[in-house]
Amino acid sequence: MRVRATSIGEPAGGITVLAGGVGAARFLAGLATCVDPASITIICNVGDDFEWHGLHVAPDIDTVIYTLAGLEGEGGWGLRDDSNVALGALGELGGESWFGIGDRDLATHLHRTRMLREGMTLADATAVLATARGVRSAVIPVTNDPHPTVVVTDAGELPFQVYFVQRRASDAVHEIRLPGAAEARPAPGVIDAIHDAELVIVAPSNPFVSIEPILAVPGVRDALARSPARRVAVSPIIGGAAVKGPAADMLRTLGHEVSAPGVAALYRDLIDCFVLDAVDASLVPAVEALGLRAVAVDTMMTDPPARARVAAAVLQAARA
Ligand code: GDP
Repeated sequence: MRVRATSIGEPAGGITVLAGGVGAARFLAGLATCVDPASITIICNVGDDFEWHGLHVAPDIDTVIYTLAGLEGEGGWGLRDDSNVALGALGELGGESWFGIGDRDLATHLHRTRMLREGMTLADATAVLATARGVRSAVIPVTNDPHPTVVVTDAGELPFQVYFVQRRASDAVHEIRLPGAAEARPAPGVIDAIHDAELVIVAPSNPFVSIEPILAVPGVRDALARSPARRVAVSPIIGGAAVKGPAADMLRTLGHEVSAPGVAALYRDLIDCFVLDAVDASLVPAVEALGLRAVAVDTMMTDPPARARVAAAVLQAARA
């Protein structure tokens, strides 16, 4: 079902979404069917960015762009129907090949890296890549500055992709470090997009390694806390578990309640409304006890129609 913008009522000031990777991208694909995609500004996490054989890879930015373009791969990342000839050849040479970059995906990283070497900012290079894929929403990295996520685990301090992909998020996480945060400056447009929006949505993303790195860029958390926009977050935790990834494990090992209210508590000073899944409807009072409005709806984004339904429900909840 395509929900027309007029049936929902599009905010004049636009919608700004704080986004990580797959969970956010699926939500955004739904949102883009509910409102004019050009009215959406997406502020992306760059904590997952890393250098791969000399190329700048930005997994969350690319997941968002590929998914909005309808080109995302099977697991939600990479490009659909991509081949792995280059990766296979790297392996034959004894080169590092644990991070799966497909052949067509490789073109993104070659092109981005060339633009960065020629002096473009990450934000400008991202705009070129998004436009080339026909994405009409503004996709903005939270910062143009280096701002990597470092994960402190039982196995020591690990760069994010070593923890997440190479070691398959199997190590208990005791701390998240953001060594670039203090020096990072918000990319042009980030603060205005949070302040001037009619609605700011914190996507169903990992609160620690997708949303916190966005909020940690100086000025961003404060902009959200003071924004006159309606502010809503969507729970990535359903029935006490993450739909995918290590969010539930991180809640546990970082000392939080492993539940939708456990996530709501992290955002309580930043949002007005928290959307949790219908299976967690009995937890609405626990979220309300945090001083937030709570709405329980189906938030499982299994296929494109479900993504659109979830986005429409979140819009309705935010404006209720
Ligand atoms: P990553 O960087 O690719 O791991 O992406 P994100 O941080 O954006 O997304 C990971 C989070 O999205 C996980 O905590 C998932 O539980 C959540 N998520 C993924 N799919 C869904 C879904 O269909 N519904 C909800 N509510 N959360 C989801």
